[in-house]
Amino acid sequence: MDTPLEESGAAEEVACHDCAQVQTLPPLGLRSVARCIRCDAVLDRREPPDSTPLALALAGLFCGLMANAFPIIEVSLAGRVRSNLLVSGPRALISDQMPVLALLVAFFSIVFPLLWLGAVSYVLLRVRAGTRARELGPLFRLAERLRPWAMTEVYVIGGFVAFTRLEELGRVSIGTGGWAVAATAFLTFLVDQVLDRRHVWDSIRRPAPVRGPGPTLGCPQCDLVTTLPEGSRCPRCRCQMWRRKRDSLNRTVALVIAGAALYLPANILPIMAVGRLGRPTPDTILTGIGELVRRGYWPLAIIVLFASVLVPVLKLVSLTWFVVAVRQRWRWALRFRTRLYRLVDGIGRWSNIDVFMISLLVALVQFGVLATVEPKAGAVAFAAVVVITMFAAEAFDPRLMWDAVEGRDE
Ligand SMILES: [Zn+2]
Ligand SMILES: [Zn+2]
Repeated sequence: MDTPLEESGAAEEVACHDCAQVQTLPPLGLRSVARCIRCDAVLDRREPPDSTPLALALAGLFCGLMANAFPIIEVSLAGRVRSNLLVSGPRALISDQMPVLALLVAFFSIVFPLLWLGAVSYVLLRVRAGTRARELGPLFRLAERLRPWAMTEVYVIGGFVAFTRLEELGRVSIGTGGWAVAATAFLTFLVDQVLDRRHVWDSIRRPAPVRGPGPTLGCPQCDLVTTLPEGSRCPRCRCQMWRRKRDSLNRTVALVIAGAALYLPANILPIMAVGRLGRPTPDTILTGIGELVRRGYWPLAIIVLFASVLVPVLKLVSLTWFVVAVRQRWRWALRFRTRLYRLVDGIGRWSNIDVFMISLLVALVQFGVLATVEPKAGAVAFAAVVVITMFAAEAFDPRLMWDAVEGRDE
């Protein structure tokens, strides 16, 4: 396998994604990581360019397909047995008049995970065969953009929580599909760890040395450095290139306000109603956590408390702080803020645990008068908070915090 960087033997100029610091990247040895000298961001990471990520991605794809074909959980109550497929949750949500929630669950748990594993497998197969087709760049960019939205790992935790809630109703067991979901999540995580993204990009199209004077512009997705004007499309991945994310502050502020407005209804309104012997009891996010505590599932209770209640607040407060800091040109805690931004950006998807739990319960607990679970409006507000705050973190450009201190404008 060729490694263009080492071939040229040259150190490379890169600009940090998170703080815009331009620095020289030395040629890296295998299994080593280069971090930004100023904010500690991972700039490059070398993994052996072998077939491991491809094998893992193909195995993940296989498990992902199995997860869609076999029952996830089986519940039996008073002689009646119910089981669910991955698609049962979205289907039950549609019949309960919650089409938006149904779509979100379907995309996050079925479409995006399969699309990500499929796209990564395809790109790696083509790269291995030595192809440099034009569509590989845009396809790999799509896969990278989708990664945070492919939430199989989060679904697994949602499945755990649903499982504990089902235990009080009847006999519960995990089906073949359930184990396949867990395997898919684990394999997805492994692919993420061993995939040498720089190598994939350089195999898709080897970067030409940047010549001549004038400002350079780096691609936000594949890091290709060019001398093209702002707004041009990246020749490698077709991503539109801007020096900073466009209209970042206004978009962040709008999304933070929307997220904050929905946060209270999301936590106060019932997210579902659990009916037993015809009597429905409303369940909010907090009573759900209380239920986990009451039944002794402390670790799960703590995870859900963090993911559902604290993480959205942390995101909203941090992003507000970042925006004010840019406007006021604060220098204080720049490095800490940049690190906090990375945390906030990466952790947001975990808030979806409860959304997945609801989708599992509404599909499974349909035992007529004995026991039913119905989704409630709070669930829609809650899912909206999660998605809106994820977009808010994506809209914010942490480099603006460093620009502000250097006296530059957006
Ligand atoms: Zn940096
Ligand atoms: Zn690019």
